[in-house]
Amino acid sequence: MPIKTWELDSNFKNEILNEAGGEHLTACYQCSTCTLGCPITEIVPSYNPRKIIQMSLLGMRNEVLSNPDLWICAICQTCTARCPQDVVVGDVLAAIRRIAEKEEEAGNLKIESPRPLFEKAFLHTVEKYGRLYDIGLALEYYPKREGGTVSGIKAMMNDYKDFGMRMAFRGKMGPLGGHGLLKGVLPSKIKKTDVMKKIFEKVEGK
Ligand code: SF4
Ligand code: SF4
Repeated sequence: MPIKTWELDSNFKNEILNEAGGEHLTACYQCSTCTLGCPITEIVPSYNPRKIIQMSLLGMRNEVLSNPDLWICAICQTCTARCPQDVVVGDVLAAIRRIAEKEEEAGNLKIESPRPLFEKAFLHTVEKYGRLYDIGLALEYYPKREGGTVSGIKAMMNDYKDFGMRMAFRGKMGPLGGHGLLKGVLPSKIKKTDVMKKIFEKVEGK
């Protein structure tokens, strides 16, 4: 990718350094250990976390924030465990994703990946129930992803007829679940959801 020197943003690395998880960005010395051990590269050979870090250090803000590869990291932290410079690579990528989301909220960027919608729906269920509630997550996520309730429910049913059934048969959710007939169908709350609410308020600075 050609470097447009006139578009470089020398402050971009500071933006990342100031986000939680981005603190060790500048310790990277580009050895590529992170990329060599990343399991995503087996599915997407062009995926390269080292390159995303290099572009960030160079100040290629626009290219990094609009890079669809930002959204395919599985946060497995293999790269973090192996980095000789203690760069928390998975968290650095999360810090960059947060900057991208802020840019989208400000109307400066369009994120094509549905991942932010999924992550928000996931967090909403954890905030409300203290644990993951698959059906609640799906009922929030699919309509938002598809831009409507009917199309969302259709897309959900389509996906669930495949992996939903597999999860049910393995006792992970649904009527065949291992801890009661309605495991995963009805929400179950932890006892102290008020504690969970306080954690979310603190993280969000409310
Ligand atoms: S393993 Fe660490 S030092 Fe090496 S390229 Fe990745 S982030 Fe940089
Ligand atoms: S955390 Fe992301 S970038 Fe790092 S090894 Fe896992 S999938 Fe790859």
